[in-house]
Amino acid sequence: MSEHYDLLVVGGGINGVAIARDAAGRGLRILLCDKGDLAGATSSASSKLVHGGLRYLEHGDFRLVRESLAEREVLLHIAPHLVRPMSFVLPQGPGSRPGWLVRAGLFLYDRLGGARSLPGARALDLRREPFGGPLRAPGAGFVYADCRVDDARLTVVTARDAALRGAVILTRTALVSAQRDGDSWRATLRPQNGGTREINARVLVNAAGPWVLDVSRQAGLSAHHAVRLVKGSHVVVPRLYEGEQAYLLQNDDGRIVFVIPFERAFSLIGTTELPFTGDPATAEITEEEIAYLCRAVGRWFAKPPDPTDIVWHYAGVRPLYEDRARSASAVTRDYVFDLDTAGAPALSIFGGKLTTHRRLAEHLLARLAPYLPEAGPAWTTRSLLPGGDDLPAAGVDGLTEEVARDYPALDMPSSERLAGSYGSEARHILREPPGQDFGHGFWEAELRWLVEKEWAQTAEDVLWRRTKLGLVMEPQQVQRIDAYLARVKPASPAVAASAPAGQTAYR
Ligand SMILES: Cc1cc2nc3c(=O)[nH]c(=O)nc-3n(C[C@H](O)[C@H](O)[C@H](O)COP(=O)(O)OP(=O)(O)OC[C@H]3O[C@@H](n4cnc5c(N)ncnc54)[C@H](O)[C@@H]3O)c2cc1C
Repeated sequence: MSEHYDLLVVGGGINGVAIARDAAGRGLRILLCDKGDLAGATSSASSKLVHGGLRYLEHGDFRLVRESLAEREVLLHIAPHLVRPMSFVLPQGPGSRPGWLVRAGLFLYDRLGGARSLPGARALDLRREPFGGPLRAPGAGFVYADCRVDDARLTVVTARDAALRGAVILTRTALVSAQRDGDSWRATLRPQNGGTREINARVLVNAAGPWVLDVSRQAGLSAHHAVRLVKGSHVVVPRLYEGEQAYLLQNDDGRIVFVIPFERAFSLIGTTELPFTGDPATAEITEEEIAYLCRAVGRWFAKPPDPTDIVWHYAGVRPLYEDRARSASAVTRDYVFDLDTAGAPALSIFGGKLTTHRRLAEHLLARLAPYLPEAGPAWTTRSLLPGGDDLPAAGVDGLTEEVARDYPALDMPSSERLAGSYGSEARHILREPPGQDFGHGFWEAELRWLVEKEWAQTAEDVLWRRTKLGLVMEPQQVQRIDAYLARVKPASPAVAASAPAGQTAYR
């Protein structure tokens, strides 16, 4: 027998899960499917910033920057454990944009987007400030505030909230076809572990990111927009400097390269922008990109990274809305909807940023309102994500101290990791019997949480998306996690379908 939903959301990246969450909270029946893991594609391969995008001002993208800055403020409030303020240092030197231009850009950046809780930008003499420490020839510069985010955790936690509000979330379940059937859609889903599943939905939402056109084809939709696929790669190296500030380095080709503190002991460097063709799942960093990133940092830093220092790298494909801009850097990061109402409605998303996902979902549901008249009003501006509530007055830092005090067996880095990853939900994990010790402060209780509440199925889901412990785990430790996961495999999709609150059921 076929199941009936109001919305079928295809894609469990940040945009898909945000739509599922918002729509579930409005009382709609939602099914979201992703052919892989949540955040398995672009949404775990970003620069991990919630930001207005200072450089988009150069391209006149004022609407996007304004919306992104307003969203930065909202996300700081609703996900304080995952979205954290950070200082960005912008050194000036030979070949940089003129100081007056940067100053004007920062002036605007401070004023767009309405109320803000972060400090305003200021000019710096980097010869006198500690921020100048890592630089080879410190001189003038600026510092301004933006935010970092754990992109994959933000995606998973948003999905978790959607599920808690009744959405059915199916990972490793691909949409293979969809047809209009009277005034609804009839879709065939294929779970990775075999079989097919037929479902009906009144509206189809295509949030397949770089695969947006493939899913359009599978649903027989003729796309009215194009997508430009642009690959971006990052490298991770041992921490290049002390301090929690990031650097925004102007390269000699006019592009910007970020150096961002990452996971306590590392620095994240990115990104590149290269046209991409082929299957986005195969995107990989090249030797040229590695050399480019190391060289861009070497122009500014006294101790530049060497390609042999790299401990991890990743590449993602931006699914940008094609606005015919000449260069990949100039293509807008804004989003556009393609609503097809030649029968049951279907809406495809082109473009977008991690930063704007919540607002994108709100806009999308406003566009679909005529077809879903019973949907409740917008509600996500003030509603905290799981783990964001019930934090001490000192926020995540206060929670870290509480965890360290209450669980003296944990070292400080582990307390910090648990508080920063799970927010107040860290307490639920820690209340359970810890079970097996997998090393580096990772215990069975946390692994069980990831399996039971966060759809983790493989060591990669656990070590490279829901945590970044892959950076430090030894192969033997990974094998033990694999062996554990093999024992607690998810139940069959038929059982999962009847699990409470839309969560996958586990034996
Ligand atoms: C290098 C780089 C750096 C970036 N940095 C930032 C940043 O710092 N800040 C920022 O705000 N934004 C940033 N972005 C942009 C941001 O990451 C993306 O806009 C965002 O992640 C896109 O999310 P999405 O949900 O649209 O796509 P995705 O995350 O790619 O999700 C699409 C999902 O659809 C699924 N799917 C596809 N086909 C099917 C099917 N047939 N059936 C079921 N599922 C399917 C895929 O498995 C995938 O999980 C960056 C992007 C890149 C590439």
